[in-house]
Amino acid sequence: ADLSELTWSKAACRFCGTGCSIMVATKAGRVVATHGDSLAEVNRGLNCVKGYFLSKIMYGEDRLTTPLLRKRDGKYAKDGEFEPVSWDEAFDLMAEKWKKTLAEKGPKAIGMFGSGQWTVWEGYAASKLMKAGFLSNNIDPNARHCMASAVAGFMRTFGIDEPMGCYDDFENADAFVLWGSNMAEMHPILWTRISDRRFSHPHVKVAVLSTYTHRSFDLADVPVIFKPQSDLAILNYIANHIIQSGAVNEAFVAEHVNFKRGVTDIGYGLRPEHPLEQAAANTKDPNASEPMGFEEFKAFVSEYTLEKTVELTGVPAEQLETLAALYADPKVKVMSLWTMGFNQHTRGVWANNLIYNIHLLTGKIATPGNSPFSLTGQPSACGTAREVGTFSHRLPADMQIANPEHRAHAEELWKLPAGSIPDWLGSHAVKQNRDLKDGKINCYWVQVTNNMQAAPNMMEETFPGYRNPDNFIVVSDAYPTVTCQAADLILPSAMWVEKEGAFGNAERRTQFWHQLVEAPGEARSDLWQLVEFSKRFTTDEVWPAELLDANPAYKGKTLFEVLYANGQVDRFPATEVDPAYHNAEAAHFGFYLQKGLFEEYASFGRGHGHDLAPFETYHEVRGLRWPVVNGQETRWRFNAEHDPYVKNGKPFHFYGNKDGRANIFALPYEPPAESPDTDYPFWLSTGRVLEHWHSGSMTQRVPELHQAVPEALCFMHPDDATEMNLRRGSEVKVVSRRGEIRVRVETRGRNKPPRGLVFVPWFDARRLINKVTLDATDPISKQTDFKKCAVRIEPV
Ligand code: SF4
Repeated sequence: ADLSELTWSKAACRFCGTGCSIMVATKAGRVVATHGDSLAEVNRGLNCVKGYFLSKIMYGEDRLTTPLLRKRDGKYAKDGEFEPVSWDEAFDLMAEKWKKTLAEKGPKAIGMFGSGQWTVWEGYAASKLMKAGFLSNNIDPNARHCMASAVAGFMRTFGIDEPMGCYDDFENADAFVLWGSNMAEMHPILWTRISDRRFSHPHVKVAVLSTYTHRSFDLADVPVIFKPQSDLAILNYIANHIIQSGAVNEAFVAEHVNFKRGVTDIGYGLRPEHPLEQAAANTKDPNASEPMGFEEFKAFVSEYTLEKTVELTGVPAEQLETLAALYADPKVKVMSLWTMGFNQHTRGVWANNLIYNIHLLTGKIATPGNSPFSLTGQPSACGTAREVGTFSHRLPADMQIANPEHRAHAEELWKLPAGSIPDWLGSHAVKQNRDLKDGKINCYWVQVTNNMQAAPNMMEETFPGYRNPDNFIVVSDAYPTVTCQAADLILPSAMWVEKEGAFGNAERRTQFWHQLVEAPGEARSDLWQLVEFSKRFTTDEVWPAELLDANPAYKGKTLFEVLYANGQVDRFPATEVDPAYHNAEAAHFGFYLQKGLFEEYASFGRGHGHDLAPFETYHEVRGLRWPVVNGQETRWRFNAEHDPYVKNGKPFHFYGNKDGRANIFALPYEPPAESPDTDYPFWLSTGRVLEHWHSGSMTQRVPELHQAVPEALCFMHPDDATEMNLRRGSEVKVVSRRGEIRVRVETRGRNKPPRGLVFVPWFDARRLINKVTLDATDPISKQTDFKKCAVRIEPV
């Protein structure tokens, strides 16, 4: 090929939360090649196999190119067949359904489910449409399934969300401890940085903890397989070891730490009538969150002796001691890393709090190489789900719906009448599915996520709500996913560089890209869809009369005028249009609306520890890590040498909490919601594979990735297989109390479970493992535990 005919531009990778910068080549209106960006600090010219094939994700043969509505005899019918319709017909019917539902049942009867794959302004616009337009907090991102426990963990310990460290820690640490994270497959570019550090510095150690052996164990100096859920005990054992061996950093603890009881919520996040919830309801600790002294905390963790921890976890004593010694040795700088193994856990918030306990006890935090680091799964789980505040309980910049001052501040910045943002908490992801099934939510819009495939206990709790005859379900996607098939109306979405974009990665780095090519047919960005839909409503139709009577200036306005126009065009006149925009339409939409939304959104965080740079800056750089103050990004927060918000004259300041201190919580080991028994004798754990992104809707359409891993397999121990007369490739049923799937057995390869545990990935739409999983959630974060439930394996 003549390389001179290619135009190269930068973009953030469409897939994982690593946030690699990718160079994208276009030719004749098509993306034709990608490679890692050599100017990017994150990936230094590399990309993984998914990034390598990014140029093909947009060109699957079955791209959705027109809205599709279920019709019979020319009219919408729940049991009709999908027929192409115009955008006008699609939006008119949607608006009719939304208006009827709002009039008859109010704002709690509409809902929206989005994603950590929304661009920053898509998530911002969606959250604003729901919370400030329809006055409903029933919006949640799929990040609820991904990292809600990490969010709650940060908020409880530090009072502010997201890691204090950054990827520079990889080149500074002496030990890496992976807690429930298979970085070799899920964060492969970051794994190259750990591998590089390990191989080039012989003293560096890597510990990997999991319930089964996976590819990251290839690098492990300390490989630890523990019984599901018992990581809570290991964490308390390490805290006990640190105290007993005299390794507490007493000066740091005295200056910067509080000790508290932390057991604030009990239960398993199942339906309230579930027997487990009923049994748990009476066991709340009346002293929850009360302060405690160091001696009391010491006595609390002293119960986690080596002997007891060996018994609870099944981990050999020597391994536990070696692991604890890494944390206890004051000369060893430790980076702890985790993702779904911690977060998808009925006690995911506690697990996050407990790892901070260890780093705080030793003072190994917020300095280069000393870093408790919560990795993210999705490209903008941080940037969009968390920072923008698309969660049902949040507002931008860590503000909370439940806090009247926060709501008032949002109303001021959004130029809304006082008291318009509702004070009730919206339904979270799992509850939205239950509300749909129960007929409490009747109009529902899903964007950028394949919820039917991704949600737990799919056939009992998710599918019935989508097919409930009282409900109208709209799904925006680029491909006809399982979720689309369950919808009433499908809207075709532009993807990745078919639109302007911005993502925020796991190390607080915000990255922008320009639209580079046109979306096929009539596919449009999710932002365009939100904005166009908002034009179909006036305040008189959706706001209470008393609110409008008290604020007559808002009467008769469209939601578009109130939410999105609102002076932005005046703020950014046409003369400022950046010639880098792909075409005039992109320039107008991208510049006027997206810059307006971004700058408005950024005003929430500036001066509040979440400062973002000006809009244009991000097109010139390979991302910046917030807070960005006076043009400078921040690498280590809470550290006076690096963080401009540390102003108390001390070396560290945990300014997210009013007293400037971080919290150490006393939290016990607690058994899982469901454990194997004689009827269901195996543990089931689910997860991803390197080659496929989430539900596989994009990567399964890339021939090379599909051929590399064409189907999900049931990984099991060869001795378990032999005992059941199964061989590699045998077809089995994986059966739980909730459902079953057929899948082939794999006894070799990348995942090696211990006896009594099977692992099945969830990317394969033909083998929907979420028919089997349990919808138990962490009672604090409401994040689902996809890592453990009880199943049996039946030969077929
Ligand atoms: Fe980087 Fe993740 Fe994209 Fe791979 S999938 S190129 S690791 S951002």
